Parts: sequence; structure tokens; C-alpha cells
Amino acid sequence: MNETLTTKERTIRVALIGNPNSGKSTIFNALTGGHARVGNWPGVTVEKKEGKFHFENHEIILTDLPGTYSLTSFSIDERIARDFIVKEKPDVVVVIADATNILRSLYLFVLIRELGANTVLVLNMIDMIEGKIEINKKNLEEILNVPVVLTIALKGEGIDELKKAIIKASSTKQQTLRIDYGEDIEKWVSEIENRLGNYQTPYNKRFIALSLLQGDLQIIEEVKSEGFEEAVNLALHASSQFENKFGIDIEEKIVENRYGFIESVIKQTTRKLRSIEERITLSDKIDRFVTNKYLGIPIFALFMYITFELTFKIGGLFADYIDQFFGLISQLVSRLPLPELISSFLTDGVISGVGSVLVFLPNIFILFMFLSFLEDVGYMARAAFVVDKLMYAIGLPGRSFISLILGFGCNIPAIMSTRTIPEERDRLLTILINPFISCSARLPIYIMFTSIFFKEKQGLIVFSLYALGIIVAILSAKLFRSTIPSLKGPISPLVMELPPYRIPSLKGILIHASERSREFLKKAGTIIFAGVVIVWLLSTIPLNHGESLKGTYLWRIGSFFAPIFKWAGFGFPEAAIALIFGVIAKELVVGTFGTLFGGEENIPQALQSLFTPLSAYAFMVMSLLYIPCIASIGAIYRETGSVKWAIFSTIYSLIVGYSFALLIYRLGSLIL
Ligand code: GDP
Ligand code: MG
Repeated sequence: MNETLTTKERTIRVALIGNPNSGKSTIFNALTGGHARVGNWPGVTVEKKEGKFHFENHEIILTDLPGTYSLTSFSIDERIARDFIVKEKPDVVVVIADATNILRSLYLFVLIRELGANTVLVLNMIDMIEGKIEINKKNLEEILNVPVVLTIALKGEGIDELKKAIIKASSTKQQTLRIDYGEDIEKWVSEIENRLGNYQTPYNKRFIALSLLQGDLQIIEEVKSEGFEEAVNLALHASSQFENKFGIDIEEKIVENRYGFIESVIKQTTRKLRSIEERITLSDKIDRFVTNKYLGIPIFALFMYITFELTFKIGGLFADYIDQFFGLISQLVSRLPLPELISSFLTDGVISGVGSVLVFLPNIFILFMFLSFLEDVGYMARAAFVVDKLMYAIGLPGRSFISLILGFGCNIPAIMSTRTIPEERDRLLTILINPFISCSARLPIYIMFTSIFFKEKQGLIVFSLYALGIIVAILSAKLFRSTIPSLKGPISPLVMELPPYRIPSLKGILIHASERSREFLKKAGTIIFAGVVIVWLLSTIPLNHGESLKGTYLWRIGSFFAPIFKWAGFGFPEAAIALIFGVIAKELVVGTFGTLFGGEENIPQALQSLFTPLSAYAFMVMSLLYIPCIASIGAIYRETGSVKWAIFSTIYSLIVGYSFALLIYRLGSLIL
């Protein structure tokens, strides 16, 4: 007993309608499994197909209506379809639209919705628009207020979803669609509706009024036979008035308005995608330019230059705020009733040190945004391609350039990325030259110095440092290749695919940039924090050193090493201390100055009393090239599996860094 109760099915009557060739029969068969009762529509020889299927406790009776484009009464097919919908009142009308021709298909949909039928919209042949048009289904459902199903009827895809949508639509009452036809038509529509008074009709009155204005013969006959001739006459009068006044057929205007509605729906819910072929031809055109033998490298350099220039311009806008923020915190802390030593630890040590590094977060974020943009657009692959020719010419595998570019962010992942280089020899070479690529940790050093000593030419100066890093890397590779026996041998050629250019998403770029910046923040909270604590500690003990730093352990260490750097123009303890702690992490060069000079705000004056522009440049070159940071040395050890290479890299880069700083300072002193 109970069983029969619970399994009692609800019957849903469904009509399928769509343009000829939209896939109606295919969908009909997919829904019913091919079982159909075929007969004729009463009085005509047009085929009528009916079938049924069961789904989730429903019996669904399906009627296949003749394929039509419209619902006027000019053709038998359209009349059959319209009569069925209006007079038989199926619970759900499924409109099958051809996704390859949405504009035309939706016209029929609009008519059905104007009739007020409960509708499910099917966009069929989705396979045909793949990669050409993107449909935002959720948006479409919201705007049209009906369930929308995307199908590939031929493969049976979306059919189950269609069944669910039918059941959903059967239990909701959708509001009749009202398109605004504009004042000049709307006023006639409402007058005609008035004249129709108490006319009993299965249509809604607005649809009747519109049909009368369009001169629909069947509707005119029906209205007349029910004794509402006045309404018909008014409609005829309106039509001729409209045409006299505007010189355009009122029916044409009505159709135009419907298409206007459809076009705006399409505009809001679909997006034309460039076809792959189109993108490839466009990419080829751009590539002819970007990878050109002569223009390639200048274009790459230009992009890099623009990147650095904007990194300062935009990043600088934020730096002041962060600066003020730390200044404020520092003031607040110094007012707290804390023992002097603790207060000094917090303000001079932690806030000055970590704060002076964190000021550069906006710059780093923006640099990463630009690099991510160039990568996502597909340009970085071209850059590697362009540089490959140059690298090949001097005996280097172009493949390693991709790893080197990663080094702009951080040398550690860049060193790890060499795992994709199959030739062991090329891999080792790439690892060894990677630390010369200027990572983002060096950027704060450059910004600090250039904003003090090279205000006018910041972008250019920093660009020159990045370029120098690349040049030193390339020259070192050439040197290693020709002198170290295990690195000798032919270069493996670069086989690279250039993916077509694409428009990157802002979201993707932001995600990349914040992921990479997070590393910087994490470092500020851990290793840089630890570093400044040590610097502070060494600058505090022994405790009886008084106001000046002289006499502290830190100063003693600095004084010991300072003479070495005299020849390069920065032979004072502060510089030596900064460089020593910079080995822990290069940001600490800045952080150390912050702690030494008692806060970010004191740095400019203090540095100006120590450096000249030339020695500042030499110091930046030193910071760029000398000894990789501890984490990089560790990565070199892990990836080469040998302490020997880690030590080699450390000593080699120290020599190179010092030599370049010296050379630049000495030559500069001669010229300037
Ligand atoms: P009807 O005239 O609306 O009944 O359309 P049919 O069901 O006869 O389908 C018209 C043509 O489109 C047939 O050749 C079908 O095989 C094909 N077709 C139907 N659905 C799809 C689809 O989702 N993708 C593709 N590529 N072809 C389809
Ligand atoms: Mg068919």
C-alpha cells in the first residue's frame, strides 16, 4: 500500500520546440531513448511525435513540435506549435537553441516567454562553439529567469541535467516576459488591451494586442469572431498611424525591439573568444617583431627598463605611508614605560631593522606584478627565445635563461628549477651562474641608495645593475665552460615552443604577485628578524659603550674588515657590517643600516655622510655580486650534491664582486 503511494508518479507534459536543425529530434531521442509514437497533427499531414520517459518519480510526456523560427500564423508549422503551447498548455516548454546561432534561436525563446509559458532554455551544439564563444550560464539564467541547460545532444551530454531542469521548471510559475517596445508602441498596446475588455482567451492580452498590431491573420479572425472588432480596427489604425509617422512598419519595429533585447542579453552573457588559429596568426605577427634578430634584445631591454621605472614610480607612492607607519609605532613604543634596554631592542633593533626592509614591500609586489604579467602574456618565453640566440653565440644553452629569469624573483627556486635541464653539464653551469641574477632581495638595497644618490635616474641605474648581473652571469658561464674540464663540451640546442599570446587575467597576476611577495614577508618575519636581533645585540654589548657604537663588538668586527673595502670606496665599518650580515639575507644590508642608524628616517643623512654617488654605486655592485645568501649557498649544495661547488661559488662570487666594485670605483674616479 505504502509503496504504491510513494511511487505514485507525477505527470509532466513537455513540449519541445526549436528552429529546424537545432537538434530537436536528437534531444527527443536522447530523452526518450528513441521510443516515439508517430502520428499526424489533427487535420494536417504534419508529423506529430510523442514519447515518454520516467525520471525521479515523474512521468514525463514529451511532444515534439514542428521546427519553427517564429510563432505567427503564416505557416502551418508555426500555427501548430503556437496552438499547442497556448491551447494544450504543456507544463514545460523546452526551447532548443542552436548555440552556434544564439541570436536567431533566442527569438523563438522570446516569443514563448511572451506567451507566458514555463520554459527551459537548452543551448545545444555547445561542442561547435568551443574555443569561440564562452557562455556564462549562471548569468544567462539570472537575466532570463529560466533554467538554462548546455547540451551536446549528439553525445548525450547535458541530457540528465535537462531532465532535472524540466522537473524544476514544472513546479515554478515563471513570470511572463515583458519587453519594452517604447512609448509609441506601448501606448497602442495598452489601448488595444483596454478594447479587448473581458475577451476570454488562452493567450495573454498583451500578446494578442501585439499580434493584432503585427497583423496576425489567425488572431484577427479569432478576436473578430468573439465580437471584439473594435480592438482589431484600433490595431489597424495604429499600424497605419505608426507607419505614417515614423515611415517604418510597426511589425518590423516590434521584431527589431525583440532582437534588441536579445542582443543585450547576449552581450551580457557571452564572450567571443579568439580562435586558436586567429591567436596563432596574431602571435606570429607580433613575434616577427618581438623576436626579430635586431630588435629582439632592445625590446627585451626596453620592457625590463619600463618594469623597473614603474616599480619605483608606483611603489614609491606607498613607501611614505609605510615609513610613517613604522615611525609612529616606534614613537609609541618609546613612550611605553619599558626598561631602556628593552625599549632600545624594540625601536632600534626590531622596528628600525625590519621596518627599513618592509618599506620595500610595495616595490617588490609591483615588480612581481610586472614580471607575472610578462610571463602570463607569453612574453617571457619569447625573451628566452631571443636571448637563446645570443647565449648560443657565446656558448651557453638558451634553456638556462628560463631558470635565470626566475632568479629575478629569488635565486633559490631558480636554482631548483634547473632540475628540468636534462644535460647535467648545462645544469651545473646554470646553477653556478644563477646567484649573479639580481633577485628581489637586492632591490631594497638599490632603491635605498638610488633614492638618495641618483634621484633623477633611479630606473636607469637599477636597470644597469640588473643588466650587469646578467652580463656577469653570461661571462662567468663562458669562463667556466672553457676552463673547468667537467663543464666543457658542445651546447645542447634549445627546442622551445612559443605558446600563442594571451590576455592575462588580473586575478592571476595578483595571485602570482602576492604568492611571491608572501615569501618576502615571511623572510622579514623570520631570518631578517633574527638577523637584526643579532646586529642589535652585537651593537649593544659590551653594555658600557656609551652613546656611540665604537667599542661594541659589532664595531670591532666592522673595523676589522673595513680596510679591505677601502680600495673600492667604502672602507668604513658600517659598510663592512652591512655586507657581513647581508650574507644571511641580502635584505639585511638595508636592515643593518636601519639598526645602525637608529631607524629608516635617519638613513639618508647617515649614508650621505659616508658615501659619494660613485662609492654608492660600487657598493651596490658589491651587494649584487658578492657571496650568494646563505639559503642560496644551501640550494647550490643540495642541487649539486657537493660541498665543493658551494664553496667554489662562494669564493668565486666574492672575488668577482670585489673586483667589479673595485674596477668601477677606480675607473669612475679616473673619469669623473
Ligand atoms: P532537428 O531538425 O531540430 O530535429 O535537428 P536534428 O536532431 O535532426 O539535428 C540536426 C543535425 O544536428 C543532425 O545532423 C544532428 O546529428 C546534429 N546535432 C544534434 N545535436 C548536436 C550537437 O550537440 N552537436 C553537434 N555537433 N551536432 C548535433
Ligand atoms: Mg527533427
